[in-house]
Order: sequence, then structure tokens, then C-alpha cells
Amino acid sequence: MTLIEKDSQYLWHPYTQHKTAAIPIAITKGEGALLWDENNKEYVDAIASWWINPFGHSNKFIADAIYKQLTTLEHVLFGGFTHEPAIILAERLMTILPNNQKKIFFSDNGSTSVEVAIKVALQYFYNKGEKKTTIIAFENAFHGDTFAAMAASGISFYTQAFQGMFIDVVRIPVPVKGQEQLSFDILREVIKNNNCAGFIFEPLVQGAAGMVMYEPETLDQLLQICQDNDVLTIADEVMTGFGKTGKTFACDYLELKPDMMCLSKALTGGTIPMAITTFTQDLFDAFYDEDINKALFHGHTFTANPTGCAAALASLSLLETEEMQQNLIRIHKRHLEFQKKTESHPMVTTTRVLGVIFALEIKTETSASYYGTLRNKLYDFFIENGVILRPVGNIVYILPPYVITDVQLDKVYEVVVNALEIV
Ligand SMILES: *Cc1c(COP(=O)(O)O)cnc(C)c1O
Repeated sequence: MTLIEKDSQYLWHPYTQHKTAAIPIAITKGEGALLWDENNKEYVDAIASWWINPFGHSNKFIADAIYKQLTTLEHVLFGGFTHEPAIILAERLMTILPNNQKKIFFSDNGSTSVEVAIKVALQYFYNKGEKKTTIIAFENAFHGDTFAAMAASGISFYTQAFQGMFIDVVRIPVPVKGQEQLSFDILREVIKNNNCAGFIFEPLVQGAAGMVMYEPETLDQLLQICQDNDVLTIADEVMTGFGKTGKTFACDYLELKPDMMCLSKALTGGTIPMAITTFTQDLFDAFYDEDINKALFHGHTFTANPTGCAAALASLSLLETEEMQQNLIRIHKRHLEFQKKTESHPMVTTTRVLGVIFALEIKTETSASYYGTLRNKLYDFFIENGVILRPVGNIVYILPPYVITDVQLDKVYEVVVNALEIV
């Protein structure tokens, strides 16, 4: 049997209707922004393998750090024990996080980092004897696939089988251009009519919704409304973290600071699954008590995995290099040039750029569905041409590894322009 035959015999893939999906591509090797399949066909990974890989595939610097850690201490339980990689990573993150973030809690992926944040928001008020049980979230938000994360997510076909089984979530419109005041007004209304514990949001960019962007000033105003009303704020930086918006965190564009932050994806340079939720001292203090019932009873077997911590430390070192900071600027500039070139194309309705993220929307007769015909046609065209891009409906976005070369980036731009001719 070939690899692909064995795959279809044994495996169940994410977000996949196996009856109608194309057979998957077996990737055998990666280097920098490139991947190769079992037939040695080359692909440019223009979405950094679901937004996780800034420093390139099979990065030697991170691999060496992982190997060294694996052969020193691969893992130890984190209940009752601690270790240097977790401590050093926490200390290092404190120097780059918004300065109100004082405590770090480890988990395994973006969804669990959100689960932890939502549980802390709810238990914070429980511990204080206040009844606040509603979470506020944006329309079309994506926060992950575990239950509280799904409840906060607003992309309906991801969650429709589970409606009615969720914690209470009330939605507000995203403050995109022209909708700012509506968003503020509805937030005030929602807070007045519900016992709201927290507001969770993807700061400045809603990734899964198709790189929908909004301004820092409007997010500041939403945060101000929450702070004035004792509603905790949770910045889900799982996608935006570690340079993607041009700054280390999207929250670095804000005047105000969130109470919690969720980090994952690029945290380990795309090597080892790991996540972190960060907290203010005030949040930690609400759980600090003689009473054991006030503790946060949440944990995962692999909490603070030392190997993951070592990978994260190596990644932070790479992110801070002059070379990587220059890459962020270079890609951003090139995206702006590409935006100029494409924004007036007759098949393009709108374009957006933030940091290394570029998105354009293709004109369609009817509203394009998330996994609809247009999307599949575009996806297949990109794959045929050796570029990995996963359009969201009629939205094509580029979010490359920071190490992508100019030549590779040219190839990505070229297939996007060519795709506009086939739709
Ligand atoms: C990907 C993502 C998640 C979920 O992360 P997983 O690691 O896939 O569980 C949560 N929030 C945002 C903003 C994301 O982009």
C-alpha cells in the first residue's frame, strides 16, 4: 500500500468531509518556507502551516535546543514540581508582554489556552461571591474547538451540532470601518442586560473569519467600556502573537491592556504543541486563599513540557534577531506594494494588510461559502501551482513564514494574481 492508501484506511483528518475531500498530500520534508511531497513536488508554505511557523520548517537552531532539552530532561510533572525551562521562559515573557501581565499558566494548544482564560474569568467572580456567568465575544470569532472555545466562537458551521449545549455567550459586531459606534453601543447594551464576566476577542485581526481587521483605537474603546463595568478582558493572541501584526503582540498597538492573554501557535516556532494563558496579579490573587476550593483546578498532563519550553525560548531568541525584525519589515513593505497592484483589479473588492498578513476579497455573484465551490477551485489552483494557500470562501490571504525569500514571495503573489484570471 502507498502512504496515501494507508492514510485513507486509518486516519481521520481535521475539518474534513472524507466522502468529498480530495486525497491529502503526503509531505516528506520541509526547509525554510518550502515543503516537498512524496513525489518531490515543491510547495511554498504561504500560510506558515496554519500560522504557526515563523522561522521556517526544520529550523536547526530550534531543533538543537529541543534535542539538548530532550537529552537533559524531556518532561516532569508540573504539579508539585518545577524546572528551569518553564521558569526562564516565564521570566523572559515578562519582559515582552504588556507590563500588567504577571502570571503564566501553561497548557497544550490554542483552544486550551482559551478554555483556561474563560474558566478563570468565570471562577474569578465565583470566588468573590458575585454571579457573573456570561461571556461576550465578537461575531464570526474563532477561539478554538473545545467546548468553551466553541461557545465563544461565532462561525456557525463549526459549532452548529452543539448549539444549546454551551455556556452563555452574547455576541457583539466587530468594529470594522463604519461599524465602530454600533459595536460600542451594543457592547454597552449587552453589559447592561447581562451579568458579564468577560469579553474575549482576537485583537485587530480575526484570522479564521478571513483576516478581518479593525483599528486599535476602537479596540481601546471597547476595552475601556469593559473596564468601566468590571468586565474582564481576554486577548486571544493565539494567531496574532509573536510578530504577525508587525509588533510582538497585537496588544502592543493598544493604549489599554487586557486582563488575560492567550498564546500558542508561533510560541514554539511551530515545532511543539504548547500554549500559555497570562494573567494580571489581581486575577491570581482572587484564587489565592486558605480555601482549597478557590484554587484553579485545571491542568494537563503535559503542562509546561520542558521540551516545549526550550523550543519557545529558542523561538524568542530568533524573533529578537535583527534579521527576523528586518524580515517583518520587508514582508510588510512587499505586501503594501502587492496591495497597490491588486486593489484596483476588477475582480478584487477589497484588500487589507497588517504586519505580515495580506488579504484580498474576490468579487462574487453570490456570497461564497467557507468551503464552497469558489474556495475549492482557488485552493486546487494554488496547490497545482505549488503554493499552499487556504482561501476562506472568497477571501485569499497570505501569512508566510518570516524567512520566506523575495523569490518565493514573488511566486506566491504571481499565483494569486493568476488566480484572479480563472475565477
Ligand atoms: C487557531 C486559533 C485557536 C485554536 O488553537 P488550536 O491550537 O487550534 O486549538 C484559538 N484562537 C485563535 C485566534 C486561533 O487562531
